Amino acid sequence: MEVILSSPRGFCAGVVRAIEVVELCLEKFSPPIYVKHQIVHNPYVVKALEQKGAITVEEVNEIPQGSIVVFSAHGSPPEDFRRAEERNLRVIDATCPLVTRVHNEAIKYSREGKKVILVGHRGHAEARGTMGQAPMVLVDDHGPVDIPQWDENTEVAVLTQTTLSVDDTARAVSKIKGRYSNALVRNDVCYATTNRQEAVKELAQLVDLVLVIGAENSSNCNRLREVAERHGVPAYLINSAEDLDQSWVSGVAKVGITSGASTPEVLVDEVISKLKPDSVSTLKGIGEDVTFTLPKELR
Ligand code: SF4
Repeated sequence: MEVILSSPRGFCAGVVRAIEVVELCLEKFSPPIYVKHQIVHNPYVVKALEQKGAITVEEVNEIPQGSIVVFSAHGSPPEDFRRAEERNLRVIDATCPLVTRVHNEAIKYSREGKKVILVGHRGHAEARGTMGQAPMVLVDDHGPVDIPQWDENTEVAVLTQTTLSVDDTARAVSKIKGRYSNALVRNDVCYATTNRQEAVKELAQLVDLVLVIGAENSSNCNRLREVAERHGVPAYLINSAEDLDQSWVSGVAKVGITSGASTPEVLVDEVISKLKPDSVSTLKGIGEDVTFTLPKELR
């Protein structure tokens, strides 16, 4: 069997930063450090930080008064900051700067009097955080595109979640433009999501099957699996080597592997070891050199 690794794959700059924020907080302040929502959507990462003294909670109200809390990379609604203040919490915000940019766009366009549409996934942490910033309507790119029926001359601004499928987003945006031809469209799908999807499209041309390593609740991992499948190969999303079903790969000559923006490379290595391939090669792919500065409290 031959294994071909997609490139780029794995951690993006926002995830590296968010993990570093928790690690630095654990070093600088005494544990426990609370983390609101999984710091990034990967159970391996969350568990590793919990073993060092982080405690993950879903709601601000679960955190004892006066504690230190890191808000996750996905972004949080203003309501969570208000609740934290009420509980006298010290908040270190690990929101990815590319998500913060979407928040700022939402506030700006709303203040300008535009109606804001967010293309995203209902219930996803990032969509919840963005929707709390200003009045807006969510258009779920996954189902039938349900466009709000305002007057056609309404000034509309369209924002997108950062981890969507590039192709589904284009489809949703084109439908919105079909009704609001003057809509101002921001493409907020981030560089990491775009690059990993482009790479998996190339990978799918070269292999018989694609394994996406990453968590079930990771939006960008799910999109990678879908993109591979749409490009003609069976694709499976697995958390780790333990989830690998040998029947999928039995008799398969070429297996492609990619991983989402929140997946540590060690999980990819373990899958490769389990596959015991005759050879492993890596696609050339687009180089990435994005880094983000830490929150000011930790610089
Ligand atoms: S996937 Fe994109 S938006 Fe999300 S943390 Fe990574 S760089 Fe930031």
